[in-house]
Amino acid sequence: HEANRHGELVRFYNAELLQALENRYTLLKHLRDAITEGDQLRVYYQPKFNMHTGKVCGAEALVRWQYDADTLLAPDQFIPLAETSGLITKIDTRVMETVFADVARLQSSGFALPVSFNVSNLDLLAPEFLGSLESLLLHSKLTASLFEIEITETQAMQNYEAVAPVLSRLVKLGVKISIDDFGTGYSSLAHFTKLAATVLKVDKSFVAQLAGKDKENALAVIKMVRNFAEQFGAIVVAEGIETEEQRAILTDNGYQIGQGYLFSRPIPFSQFETLLAQEKQLTLSR
Ligand code: C2E
Ligand code: MG
Ligand code: MG
Ligand code: MG
Repeated sequence: HEANRHGELVRFYNAELLQALENRYTLLKHLRDAITEGDQLRVYYQPKFNMHTGKVCGAEALVRWQYDADTLLAPDQFIPLAETSGLITKIDTRVMETVFADVARLQSSGFALPVSFNVSNLDLLAPEFLGSLESLLLHSKLTASLFEIEITETQAMQNYEAVAPVLSRLVKLGVKISIDDFGTGYSSLAHFTKLAATVLKVDKSFVAQLAGKDKENALAVIKMVRNFAEQFGAIVVAEGIETEEQRAILTDNGYQIGQGYLFSRPIPFSQFETLLAQEKQLTLSR
């Protein structure tokens, strides 16, 4: 990847950054500064589409770190460090606050769209994170069902005994729960039933394999996840859709909601607003 100013993530670094990435201590120091002083965290939105109507039906918030003017870092370059250094809950709180503000802005321009955001299992065990969420719900006057928490199957299972009751509590508040990267996390059935999942997000590796040499197995997983979701009254979402062929296989197999580069990359909020306005214009002019 090239460094650029057009919202593409950078995986090709300047010398200082390369050194920082190699040196955990330096990177950690920069990350702490980025959170406490700077305004360097960016929340991008990847639109979710209703694949039958072709319309935007929601979005997922994804964090990026604007390291310098030319360098936008991907979450996998700093989230793991944030998780092991205790900074993750601060980052996720910041992202969640931004999501609430942006959803409120959308609502005031006539778009009541649900938005999901990613959390770490550490967040769900942090009283300050849950307190922030409850207070945002209380003060925003937005309906709780506009918000969806994504937690990976692996992380939910890792800390299942502690996480499951928190998820139940959040569902009672009206928030939706999405189990992310589903199919890669070795859920036990007994544990899964207690996770209060409202959405299953099938892992993008299966979507990627739908057209590859392992397509029979991937298709079996896609079908199984859909049936599984149906049994538990959850809905399915597919991510990582890059080709028309993948989209067609998914819709043929009961998937209605999808996200992926075929439809849109994650984009800054202002571009997401523009996309919604253009779509509305198109509908009005028909
Ligand atoms: P995820 O939640 O499973 O998000 C999906 C990832 O797939 C995103 O990567 C997204 O940009 C990427 N993606 C979307 N469409 C396509 C596609 O068509 N093809 C391919 N190959 N990839 C696609 P991203 O933004 O780099 O995020 C990576 C992971 O970092 C996320 O995976 C999530 O687990 C974590 N993450 C992102 N934002 C946050 C956050 O605010 N807090 C926490 N705790 N984790 C986050
Ligand atoms: Mg996610
Ligand atoms: Mg995922
Ligand atoms: Mg992931």
